[in-house]
Amino acid sequence: MHKELFDLVSGQPVTDCTIVWPALRYILEPLTGFAEYILSFTRYIVQLVSWIAWLMIVTAGWAIVRKKTLRDAGVNGMGVVLFFLTVVVVVLVFPLSWPRLVTPSGTAVVDFHSHTFYSHDGIKSPTQSIAFHRRLGYTEFFVTEHGHTNGFPQFSAAAQYATVFPGMQVSTKERVSLLIFADRQFDGAEFRDKTVSQVIDLAHRYGFVVVCPHWWKWRYFSWDELYKKGIDGFEIYNAGYRNFSAEERARLVQFCRDNHLVMLGNTDWHGWGSMTDVWTVVPGVTPGVGAPLMQFLREHRSSRVLVNLQPEAQGTLRYFFEPFCGAYYYFSAITVPQACGLMGWIIVIVIAGRFSWCAQFRRLIPQIFGLGLLALVFYCLFIWLPLRPENTILNRLLAPIIAVIGVLWLVYGKVQNKKN
Ligand SMILES: [Zn+2]
Repeated sequence: MHKELFDLVSGQPVTDCTIVWPALRYILEPLTGFAEYILSFTRYIVQLVSWIAWLMIVTAGWAIVRKKTLRDAGVNGMGVVLFFLTVVVVVLVFPLSWPRLVTPSGTAVVDFHSHTFYSHDGIKSPTQSIAFHRRLGYTEFFVTEHGHTNGFPQFSAAAQYATVFPGMQVSTKERVSLLIFADRQFDGAEFRDKTVSQVIDLAHRYGFVVVCPHWWKWRYFSWDELYKKGIDGFEIYNAGYRNFSAEERARLVQFCRDNHLVMLGNTDWHGWGSMTDVWTVVPGVTPGVGAPLMQFLREHRSSRVLVNLQPEAQGTLRYFFEPFCGAYYYFSAITVPQACGLMGWIIVIVIAGRFSWCAQFRRLIPQIFGLGLLALVFYCLFIWLPLRPENTILNRLLAPIIAVIGVLWLVYGKVQNKKN
């Protein structure tokens, strides 16, 4: 079993494109392998909770075998969980490594759905968004902020209409999420507080295109109802919300084919993590030229939606045993360079463990992590946030969570030092 690039639209393996990872991926394999795994979660909260529960069960079992006191067992458990959460923060915030789709030259590879920190829940800048998309092999992308179009003008003039195109993700009165694609800047406010039919009708009057993203997230209206309201197409894959079975996706693909609708696979990138596993390839469109791209959408022409996946079981049993299932899928798909990177780290850690300076360094780790995370909080609140005061995820979720983990590391360091 291994990851294989295939086209969700045709259901066939892809032979004319490949995925290339930079060498950094293999050098940092324990971290990048874990990042790739975490970012492929179908139910983030459930799978993270499963991990934390198992880490606590295993450390408790270890404490019983080693006849540790309850206090020591608690401190050990705290250290293990803090380490896990820190790794999760690191892989979500920092660009570590990325798979690049290599296509025949002259092929347009488009991400039709992405956000910057001008959305309330995005955490990266327009410059970082361009870098992200270039690295992954996209030739162009749409920026689709939530409920407004203020992100697009923040991109450089050189990037506008060459690399990045204007769009918007809007929630209708019926709470249906819709993506609007445009060939010119527009006022997002015009599309707010409207019904699905009103959004679609207004967009069509302007020559814009409306697609339903991650329909499976809320399942409002049937595909047929949306089709009758005039929808131009559907996302059939969304790297942010993957909880959609292969069987139901195949039915949606068939529905789009039968009704001549656009099919897209998008990153829905909000700045979390530096990877994706989906690329929409648009045949017959020259990269960096806007008009043919809009024409492709308006004419509902067929695309190729390439995903780099291995078939994995999902469901309650998998989530219950998540760390074991995750490890099973990782090791069953591991490549030789990945295995070499992993072995290298194991050898380095085993050898370093024999030196006394390493033990001294280990004692400093809680302080290093604690202060490092608090520096990241400072960066979120004082560097990022002033750029976009309406952003709520930085001050209400990201910064507080990281701050708590950072402070807990410092507490853990204090308790550890007292113990020794
Ligand atoms: Zn979105």
